[in-house]
Amino acid sequence: MGARPFASSADVEEKEQTLEVLADGVYALTAEGDPNVGAVEGEDFLVCFEALATPVAAGEWLAKLREYTDKPIRYLVLSHYHAVRVLGASAFDAEVIVAHDNTRVLIAERGEQDWASEYGRMPRLFKEPASIPGLTWPTLTFDDTATIHLGGDRGVVELRHLGRGHTEGDIVAWLPHQRILFAGDLVEAQAALYTGDAFHRDWSSSTLDRVAALDAETLVGGRGAVVRGRDAVAAAVGQTRHFLQVLLAEVGAVQARGGTLREAFVACHAALVDRYGGWPIFEHCLPFDVSRVWDELAGIERPEIWTAERDRDVWNQLHS
Ligand SMILES: [Zn+2]
Repeated sequence: MGARPFASSADVEEKEQTLEVLADGVYALTAEGDPNVGAVEGEDFLVCFEALATPVAAGEWLAKLREYTDKPIRYLVLSHYHAVRVLGASAFDAEVIVAHDNTRVLIAERGEQDWASEYGRMPRLFKEPASIPGLTWPTLTFDDTATIHLGGDRGVVELRHLGRGHTEGDIVAWLPHQRILFAGDLVEAQAALYTGDAFHRDWSSSTLDRVAALDAETLVGGRGAVVRGRDAVAAAVGQTRHFLQVLLAEVGAVQARGGTLREAFVACHAALVDRYGGWPIFEHCLPFDVSRVWDELAGIERPEIWTAERDRDVWNQLHS
């Protein structure tokens, strides 16, 4: 395993982007396992969900969206603080940038380090990195729920924090009339999970229970194809939960017998590879995932900050 290229640094092949109209005025852009984005039309404005890694990358998405609507962007909703989700924000020229209270805290605390870390792990996503003007700061944050009224008979977008999960401050965008859920990285569809900043026990239990309770008919996960139909949505949530439960069980067992982090990594890899090994970013994520599960089960409450240096240290330790 020693020759394995670091994270996704060798993944240089462009992915095909697909814009889908999920309902009247509801759009999703998926990209074969690269981060997904979305948009919802109000009567005279747009709500955009997620900002991609750079303004140039975001501009390409907006050019596609502009083939359908020229309404101005009033709200840019950020599901969480990760760089590949937020650093393209300036391209939207949004009136309001919305995120969870904890996301603002995390950007202040570790936004710079996360930027450097994610750039090193996934350089292809950072299209023209010099176009990033700096960290993205939300201008409106909330703790529990925020509702955006779309006007006319378009209904609402409910932004909800469903508990700790992929990070400490994930929010989803729920369209109750259309039963469409933009889940951010709380649910992945046929893509591996990144859990390096996660709270596995909360995520795999109460948080995913709340996601499932929404009873969505269409789900746009953080990565992977649009999921259509209640059964398929339940399967995507179930896959996410299963991945987390396997990580917890395998790492817990190794810790209980006094084993090492590297042994936990080998055990997790063996337990997951048959089902998930072919999915995007599996090999990239797993060392960071196992490292965080290890810390969480060892009693470290909040995830340690990933830096470009720590990334390499953990990677080399687990692939030696
Ligand atoms: Zn993320």
